[in-house]
Amino acid sequence: MTGSRHATGTTRAVVLRLVDYRDSDRIVTLFTEAYGRLSAIARSARRSQKRFAGGLESLCVVEVTLEPGRGELETLREARPVLPCLGLLSSLERIEVAGTGFEMLRSALAERHPEPEVFELVVAFLLDLDAGASPGTRLLQFQLDTLSHLGLAPELEQCAVCAKEAPLSRAALFRAAAGGIVCRACGGGALRLSATTRQALLAHRGGSTAPSELVSTWPSDVQAEARALVSGLLEHAGFQRPKR
Ligand SMILES: [Zn+2]
Repeated sequence: MTGSRHATGTTRAVVLRLVDYRDSDRIVTLFTEAYGRLSAIARSARRSQKRFAGGLESLCVVEVTLEPGRGELETLREARPVLPCLGLLSSLERIEVAGTGFEMLRSALAERHPEPEVFELVVAFLLDLDAGASPGTRLLQFQLDTLSHLGLAPELEQCAVCAKEAPLSRAALFRAAAGGIVCRACGGGALRLSATTRQALLAHRGGSTAPSELVSTWPSDVQAEARALVSGLLEHAGFQRPKR
């Protein structure tokens, strides 16, 4: 699945990043449904808004038309919004939350590796935010779902260093750098996860049928621990933010 397949044709996408390039072009980092994460050049995007119809600047699902370009970059022919996200744009908090979610995708997605299920998670995430879902809870849900789908969920059942089993009836110490809980003999970790939080996180991972119900039912202390775990993970290996 990874590799040299040419990204050409029309596919749904979200815009993860937009950088001005030369006088009038823009480099667009996209998460496309068909090809995964890739960068494309949008020629004259700053001069002529017509071909892109606002589709590049919004936290929206867009339909893009790609053509093979020179070198590593595809050429972006066209981008137009396919789902209205006006409500999303009207709230600063929701915009920030969507931006945080997109930032995670930028660092967690491998280049040119299609992840259609994660793409569906993004669509649902944006639609729910637009429909008024609680931004913080919905973001946590999206982050946990995405980590799970990408096989990056933390180790919660045994020590990530020595593999000693940690009974689920007890709290455990989480070390982000190890990607999981670490027993005391191996040095433990900075974040204490209660037994309830560990069980909630594991149940969430198993429950792919109706995942959006779960996080919102968690008590606030469980949500807080899960949030600390996610931000720890995002700061560590595999999630280093790309240098600008
Ligand atoms: Zn250990």
